[in-house]
Amino acid sequence: MKRTFHVLLMTCLILLVADCTSLTSSPSFSSDCVIVISVDGLRPDAILSEESETPTLDRLAREGAFTLEANTDPEWSVTLPNHTGILTGRFVKNHGVSLNDDPEPGTTVHSLKGEYVDSVFNWVKLAGGTTGLYASKTKFSLFLSSWPAQIDESAVSTRTMSVVDKLLSQMETTQFNYIFLHFRGPDSTGHEYEWMSRRYLNSVERVDQMIGRVVEVVESNDGYKNRTHLIVTADHGGEGTDHGDITNPLHYTIPFIVWGPAIQKGPLSTNADSGRPGDAGPVRNGHAAPTALRLLGIQPPKDWDYSTLLFTWKRANLGPRVGLSYGLISPMAKESPGPAEYIVR
Ligand SMILES: [Zn+2]
Repeated sequence: MKRTFHVLLMTCLILLVADCTSLTSSPSFSSDCVIVISVDGLRPDAILSEESETPTLDRLAREGAFTLEANTDPEWSVTLPNHTGILTGRFVKNHGVSLNDDPEPGTTVHSLKGEYVDSVFNWVKLAGGTTGLYASKTKFSLFLSSWPAQIDESAVSTRTMSVVDKLLSQMETTQFNYIFLHFRGPDSTGHEYEWMSRRYLNSVERVDQMIGRVVEVVESNDGYKNRTHLIVTADHGGEGTDHGDITNPLHYTIPFIVWGPAIQKGPLSTNADSGRPGDAGPVRNGHAAPTALRLLGIQPPKDWDYSTLLFTWKRANLGPRVGLSYGLISPMAKESPGPAEYIVR
């Protein structure tokens, strides 16, 4: 009994200290950035395949924390529902977007759900950060309509190379804190020529080269060097020319890589003790949202289905400004702000 109380007391003290930290720290992550990259339809064995040259993805996996056995949403293995999960940290059944076509004008995540749905963009903006969304399928316009005041810079076009060019040129003048970047290529070639066909693998190779250009900027630009983390995952895999069968492991198994100066090479796992439904099973792409927030020093909202993934932090090699931001800064209210605080001007 006495011991239990002691543990409780210590827990309270730790919570108090944590609370003080959150009160006294400004949202000082202005030089930290997380880039979440989703490669549409990327199967994990396309990275490992000896038939494809993917030096950048291989390197990110080799140097970072990763798993090749991550999963999509438990009930959906299609594009827009899974990407909404990647941005909102929720199951599809809880963010409400089962739509997978170009949205009708005026459609938002909120109108599909029937209530306001917050995203990683909301939380980064509330903390004073700058965000970007760069995607190569037009249906991603759903997110621009949903969070227009929370997405600072964007390019949504099927011309992938031009989307990447716009991002890289924007990074020269803008200090982003959160960037979502989407590559459609492997999905498009998979549907046309089959997953793991030569054309599919060629497309994965082209995406790898474009991710290589992003890494080059991250490693050479002073605003991003040694203070940027990458999360690389996918919305689904595929077999034959399809990926919509949630009972097929080749459809729902995807890679998940976390790479950057704070990450020790090693495995990734869920926080099974968190009590959140999304953490009870495997790593899923929805873990990208809370993990990105955590890397930025922002406490993920309590009502999300997923919490931050577990990996080993590499503290020794952190630059001072990067190190400062890992104190679980929580510039927002303890509970998620209500919809009123999100009303779009
Ligand atoms: Zn897709």
